[in-house]
Amino acid sequence: MRFSPEKLAIPDQRMKPFIDTEEIWNLINNTKPDKQRVRDVIAKSLDKQRLTLEETAVLVNSIGTGLADEIKEGAKELKQRVYGNRIVLFAPLYVGNRCINNCKYCGFRSSNADAIRKTLDDNEIIKEVEALEDNGQKRLILVYGEHPDYSPEYIAHTVKLVYGVKKGHGEIRRVNINAAPLDIEGFRTVGESGIGTYQIFQETYHPEAYKWYHLGGKKRDYEWRLTALDRAQEAGIDDVGIGALFGLYDWRFEVLGLVRHTNHLEACYNVGPHTISFPRIKDALSLNLDKKYETGDDDFKKLVAILRLAVPYTGLILTARESPDVRREVLQYGVSQIDGGTKLEIGSYSDSQNEEQNLNREQFKINDARSLADVIDELLTNDYLPSFCTSCYRMGRTGEHFMEFSVPGFIKRFCTPNAILTLSEYICDYAQGETIDKGWKVIEKNIEKLDPAVASGTREKIEKIKAGERDLYF
Ligand code: SAM
Ligand code: SF4
Repeated sequence: MRFSPEKLAIPDQRMKPFIDTEEIWNLINNTKPDKQRVRDVIAKSLDKQRLTLEETAVLVNSIGTGLADEIKEGAKELKQRVYGNRIVLFAPLYVGNRCINNCKYCGFRSSNADAIRKTLDDNEIIKEVEALEDNGQKRLILVYGEHPDYSPEYIAHTVKLVYGVKKGHGEIRRVNINAAPLDIEGFRTVGESGIGTYQIFQETYHPEAYKWYHLGGKKRDYEWRLTALDRAQEAGIDDVGIGALFGLYDWRFEVLGLVRHTNHLEACYNVGPHTISFPRIKDALSLNLDKKYETGDDDFKKLVAILRLAVPYTGLILTARESPDVRREVLQYGVSQIDGGTKLEIGSYSDSQNEEQNLNREQFKINDARSLADVIDELLTNDYLPSFCTSCYRMGRTGEHFMEFSVPGFIKRFCTPNAILTLSEYICDYAQGETIDKGWKVIEKNIEKLDPAVASGTREKIEKIKAGERDLYF
């Protein structure tokens, strides 16, 4: 059912700016929580209820109550209750770095004369996807600069191209997008190509800071970007991802901005964002930024835990911008998706010899350059269940429908068995050495926790996978 403002007799807020700077600063400045209040808010979240903006401010402002560890413990507990130990894996594929914008923090910005501009042609895209499939990837996010070359039609073309690349047992089953905001027609064109999530980061929710960082091009328009995912919804894309680039402005403001954005989408479209991302600024070509708002490791860890508690059912994405150590710790606080085997230099999945030459084609430096195999091995060692599942989006369980399924029981009936099946495929097709044994052990352990009927259905499907069948899911 679509949002209907007439029925509710409230003003239609769709496609209207929704950030009230003063409101957010008032909450940050005037919320003075005591220990009991912080504990009450954590308890509400553990009851799987979304937090209000004010309650999120209580957690953000809990410095001085000595309860940072309780917030992290709460987030850990909630993650276990809602998601279990699954971690979904994906890889980014940078298609092109042409860009008309001039974002101070980004290596692709138009004023960066050192950047070598490159857009993969169709054959190069195919080669990149084959290389990714050879590693076992099943889910990609395609990334583009903002440029007339990257029209909605072109983006849709690349999505279809990627879905068509099959090598051995390899195929990409979900293509997500990180690209510039489009108009409604543009979103419709991209949506019809069969994408998973359309992801757009606001970078900073603070309008004046936003102006300061975005010097030219269409991205200068704060409101066009802020309302982008409303237009995506209007165009029928009900699976959207939001994010803020931490380090541009006060992290507390950005956390409240993300929660406000979530509230807005829920109020207008009956469904919040599918995912929230929280990249921290990393070194980019000729980057020369003030460190005033740099988000340190302690604040970063805390803010991830706060986001987990604030929006219990929203996926949280942690990328290879962070080091293995930081990733290891933050994973526990409620992250549900990570990338593995990431390479940002354009064209370097298939052409690793040429990394030197490719260096000037990357947007920023990553801090976790481990292969997908190494990332999976470590996840298994630490008792996580790596997943390449794409079932919900292919079964139409997205958007508002997805929310209906995000209830207790659903994970055990669908997510865990599907994670097990995609991990079984990975072990049969790509795993090497000790990872194979570790993988089957983790699978066995997780099957034992399922209801008997689901467990036996899962075992049957695993036997079929061992016999050569692929792409089995619930
Ligand atoms: N051009 C599109 C845009 O700006 O939305 C999409 C691609 S952009 C390459 C993807 C995201 O990378 C940006 O939204 C920004 O948050 C992030 N990013 C840019 N520069 C970064 C840096 N130096 N360190 C970390 N992340 C960065
Ligand atoms: Fe271009 Fe996006 Fe980089 Fe800005 S962040 S310069 S829009 S690629």
